Amino acid sequence: TGKKRTAEGGGDVRLSGIGKTYGSFTAVHPLDLTVPEGSFFALLGASGCGKTTTLRMIAGLEEPSCGSVWLGDHDVTNLPPYKRPVNTVFQSYALFPHLDIFENVAFGLRRRGVKSVKKQVEDMLELVQLGEQARKKPHQLSGGQQQRVAVARALINHPKVLLLDEPLGALDLKLRRQMQLELKRIQTEVGITFIHVTHDQEEAMTMADTVAVMNGGRVEQLGSPTDLYENPRTTFVANFLGTSNLIEAEVDSKSGGDIVLKGGDGKLVLPEARCSAPATTGGKVLVGVRPEKITLTHADDAGEIPVGRNRITGKIAATSFIGVSTQYVIDSSVCPEFEVYVQNIDRDTRLVPGADVVLHWNPAHTFGLDAAQD
Ligand code: ATP
Repeated sequence: TGKKRTAEGGGDVRLSGIGKTYGSFTAVHPLDLTVPEGSFFALLGASGCGKTTTLRMIAGLEEPSCGSVWLGDHDVTNLPPYKRPVNTVFQSYALFPHLDIFENVAFGLRRRGVKSVKKQVEDMLELVQLGEQARKKPHQLSGGQQQRVAVARALINHPKVLLLDEPLGALDLKLRRQMQLELKRIQTEVGITFIHVTHDQEEAMTMADTVAVMNGGRVEQLGSPTDLYENPRTTFVANFLGTSNLIEAEVDSKSGGDIVLKGGDGKLVLPEARCSAPATTGGKVLVGVRPEKITLTHADDAGEIPVGRNRITGKIAATSFIGVSTQYVIDSSVCPEFEVYVQNIDRDTRLVPGADVVLHWNPAHTFGLDAAQD
């Protein structure tokens, strides 16, 4: 136990110009993507964006209309699924109901004629922390436990890549959160590449090293969870991963690596390096700031706000208590539904609906997007 089981390298998964059309409908536009060996990679997007189709092309369950799939130095595009060193875990666990857990996990080994399966199955059950459940039938396990059996059953074949298609979709929220951490632990322990499909941004952010955000059959942005959250490059990514508070502002001037914009109370400052839009003087950009980066101050205390902060004035429209923090919705002339989260320990009792407030934040926490994009 605790020993890292390192698979011999399968190499990176590389999609080269791979695409899928159904008649005149394009489900996946030709895309190039490299999933580094040993990483936990998530394909994230809303229903219908093409993530499952992409995963199925990697598995060999869907024939691409163009392009190729590579595993390390091997072009696997024309290999049938069972000849690829890849296994898939689906949302419906598809366990054999009449077999006990041990036999469910042993299934792949027995089919390949492996004689002594005991040690391997036991090790695998230990990896997914089901050692005690070996002799139970699937219906005697919880949903989360059944999902772990499905993972063990896939991993026992020593795939180089494990594909997970919304594997936690059938679980309730609490169990889902537990299983996210559990899958992450298993991936770290086995050290092989996991490619995980989900529509749940929090799930992708919790588990993955790298996330590809898909929209309309294209990858909109690829990056680490923090990078995507802090430096979204499109409004879709900014809005899909959390709340973005976008303000349209006009470029006034540039100085010392900063873009100065007309907006808010006089001016807003945006570091040039955090702007993905071409920012020409007189042009418009969308300035975004995440709700938890903002400080909310009652208008009576506005004089105490340090200089150099981006500022916006407004009025509290609504508040809602969400446990560790309170969410405030602010009406302001530049952004009609500005959201701010304030930790409950810092809550000011004057911050009630109707109160005049000033929102302010460090310009470094600002990102800039192209105002002209769709
Ligand atoms: P979901 O989370 O709902 O599964 P997804 O992002 O995984 O969505 P895909 O299943 O990859 O999306 O489907 C992408 C698009 O391709 C969808 O609009 C879907 O309707 C379409 N599509 C998928 N399979 C077929 C098919 N066999 N024939 C025609 N259209 C298809």
